[in-house]
Amino acid sequence: MAERILLTNARVLACTGGADERPVAADVLIEGDRIVRVAPGVLLDPGAARVVDLRGATVLPGLGDAHVHLSWPLDFVFDHQAIAKTPPGEHMLDVAAVVRTFLESGYTFVIGAGTTQPQDDLLIDDAIRRGLVPGPRIVPSGPMIAEVGGLGGDGEMMEVAADAKSLREIVARQCDQGVRALKLFISGDGVVPEFPSEDVYMNDAMLSAAVAEADRHGAFLTVHARGSASVAMAARTGVRIVHHACFLDDAAVKALEARRDDLWVCPGLHYLYAMVSGHAEPYGMTPEKIEASGYHAEFASQIEGMRRLREAGIGILSGGDFGHQWTRHGTYAAELRRYVEFAGMTPVEAIHTATRNMGGVSGLPIGQVREGFLADLLVVDGDPSADIGVLLDPARRRAVLKDGDFAYVNPGLYP
Ligand SMILES: [Zn+2]
Repeated sequence: MAERILLTNARVLACTGGADERPVAADVLIEGDRIVRVAPGVLLDPGAARVVDLRGATVLPGLGDAHVHLSWPLDFVFDHQAIAKTPPGEHMLDVAAVVRTFLESGYTFVIGAGTTQPQDDLLIDDAIRRGLVPGPRIVPSGPMIAEVGGLGGDGEMMEVAADAKSLREIVARQCDQGVRALKLFISGDGVVPEFPSEDVYMNDAMLSAAVAEADRHGAFLTVHARGSASVAMAARTGVRIVHHACFLDDAAVKALEARRDDLWVCPGLHYLYAMVSGHAEPYGMTPEKIEASGYHAEFASQIEGMRRLREAGIGILSGGDFGHQWTRHGTYAAELRRYVEFAGMTPVEAIHTATRNMGGVSGLPIGQVREGFLADLLVVDGDPSADIGVLLDPARRRAVLKDGDFAYVNPGLYP
């Protein structure tokens, strides 16, 4: 029989309810990698399970981040070229440190948003699955894909497609290697003034071909899309995750709404917040550069856009390009804090973007503390449904379980 663990004396934030959900007193019985019971006062024969008394701590689903660059080391300073050129062995140790940081920060699930060395996500995913290094469940990405003439189209850091046929070939090759989250650049980015956010790259025929090819492999498309027109194109062609979506006109919202059962938006609000708040200034992002990027307008527009997305019932995912020195690895839950501070979410609604919604987008039984779901859990001191800051404090993080095993226990618990 599979090993059983009974978590007793817990407050369970199940992430199965609405915006007013609160933790309730319950025990959680885990058998193998699954949650098999969530109820108060679970009684078992002595010796039938390993009993762990959580002494009133809160148990919630392990968190997820849907926009992750595992390739960016802990000391990353936007030096993409240097990362690409680092000897692969040395680089993979950096990647191992990053996945460990995700796990120890309470993140048991990530979706790749593009690699710097092509095999980063695939290699580290394999190492984690084999138990060589601790890390989250990964939907692996590969190199980002750009269009000839578009942002990234110089081919220095990305694969480049000229038409639907060549894009389809790139998607097929990445999928054959194991990539399951393709990352395409279909808009510009204000931070690169020659490629403004309103620019649209690729077209309906290219995206439709890429979606069909990915689908054939059980993979899906994610896109960098900042302007309205690119967002609308992503929605009508079958893209699953729209990253950023900074500008949303009526047509874009309508197109997203038509796909709300199988499309999610991943804003990256904390990244913009950090940029416009001057946190990147020590790393060369001067006030003049930020001014020129239009990020102030994007930040305001994204907040308004998130309000419209919520009203339209479009699923929002937590995720945010973490790994810069101004959005450091390990501070991933800052994205949730910004949702509460600026986007009008309750703490629980924000938590749902990192838990229950990750189950929706991935199709995996994750993101809820519920019978039959995978036992990927986070144990914290305090109530994150009352204070989202609880998730940002490493000292309050007691333990992380993945696949029903204790994958991290805070060493500070045993002084
Ligand atoms: Zn990114």
